[in-house]
Amino acid sequence: MGAAKLRILLVVLFLTIVAIVWIAISFRISPVVPALDLPATAPVAVGTPLPPPLPIESPTPMSSNFLGTVNLIVPVAGVKPEQLLDTFADARSEGRSHDAIDIIAAAETPVLAATDGKIIKLFQSERGGTTIYQLSADQKLIFYYAHLSHYAAGLTEDSQVRQGEVIAYVGDTGNAGAGNFHLHFSISIVPDPKRYWEGTNINPYPLLRH
Ligand SMILES: [Zn+2]
Repeated sequence: MGAAKLRILLVVLFLTIVAIVWIAISFRISPVVPALDLPATAPVAVGTPLPPPLPIESPTPMSSNFLGTVNLIVPVAGVKPEQLLDTFADARSEGRSHDAIDIIAAAETPVLAATDGKIIKLFQSERGGTTIYQLSADQKLIFYYAHLSHYAAGLTEDSQVRQGEVIAYVGDTGNAGAGNFHLHFSISIVPDPKRYWEGTNINPYPLLRH
């Protein structure tokens, strides 16, 4: 093999390598992309404000839908809406918040069903004392009555009650404190009425004042 032939061979080899490298680089810079059928949306102008973010789900997502239609009475005989105090956000032991309203009344004052519904649980609890869980007729809300002295005669689990019906009497059972007679009343939204203790408490105050 002559020197000239060797030189030509080297040049060809060099050009081949350059060509391969060039092809490889151009592939990396502009990779072959399959033609996409992009929707013909209008181009977004610079400075166009973004659409508003979706509202964040609050703990009471249904409040605006149906709570406005909930018609409650103050569940203690003789107590007027304007006498109520909003104690929902008050602190309680162990870092808990109250999440309920306390309605002060004399011992043995009748406790009334705040709305129509079904008594689903009569329960003796350490904190609440003698308590009642009532499910609303639409099965979305649980009403909880605590520190009761005793239940109304004949009241049982599964009793259907009408708004204003006497279901119990004001007491100081549970952790109310001896002689601190009041009704502890809370309202919760329950995703599953069978799990009545797992609801999210909402403030009864505005619903009772309204
Ligand atoms: Zn309370």
